[in-house]
Amino acid sequence: MVINAEEYVESLYGKDEQLEKASQRIRDQGMPEISVAPGYGRLLTLLVSMIKAQTVLEIGTLGGYSGICLARGLEGNGRLVSLELSSEHAEVARGNLAEAGLSDRVEIRVGQALDLLQQLDEEGKRFDLVFIDADKENYLNYLDWALQLGNSNAVIVADNSLMMKYGSVMDAAAQGSNVQKIREFNHRIVSDPRLASTILPAYDGLAIARVK
Ligand code: SAH
Ligand code: MG
Repeated sequence: MVINAEEYVESLYGKDEQLEKASQRIRDQGMPEISVAPGYGRLLTLLVSMIKAQTVLEIGTLGGYSGICLARGLEGNGRLVSLELSSEHAEVARGNLAEAGLSDRVEIRVGQALDLLQQLDEEGKRFDLVFIDADKENYLNYLDWALQLGNSNAVIVADNSLMMKYGSVMDAAAQGSNVQKIREFNHRIVSDPRLASTILPAYDGLAIARVK
């Protein structure tokens, strides 16, 4: 039996109990099953730990799957702030982070991300890594905010940069507004002179950039 590269790698790692539990609760609550891919979850943990991030910002919490991955990479007094529109999602995420023993490192703020980002700026908060994973319509705005709120050399990561599930960005015939926004976002990731970047084509695509 031939399996694809993603399945092969997943089979090497086997089950991650905390993340399995988190995914199960997300399913049980009838929430969308759109948590970050397991391989990218592992990458988020690695990136946070490799740059020794002290402050991490996530835009789009859902059930806390990626939040667990980000928080796992934090050392010492490192903190994650995660922004979520839905108070129901935030509640499930708080439960999942508590189960994973990570509550003390994570603050979830509920509201429109654009408002919450403004608030963080007014509070003078700055971040070493920003993970963008909320509404695709605002990805370019979130990139602007990541540049505004990022410390020097900040790492910016954005999920779903290929949007394979709902009309792929590679399909020229796909012209939905989210697809177009993501295309524009990818173009900026690639061409913004302030950024050094790459886009990983596995799973649903992941953009990674570092502020020069
Ligand atoms: N990062 C999560 C998945 C996020 S899914 C993970 O991988 O585990 C996208 C989330 O963004 C959803 O929970 C959705 O409610 C939230 N969202 C959508 N629009 C938003 C907005 N304008 N402001 C804040 N959160 C938003
Ligand atoms: Mg995503």
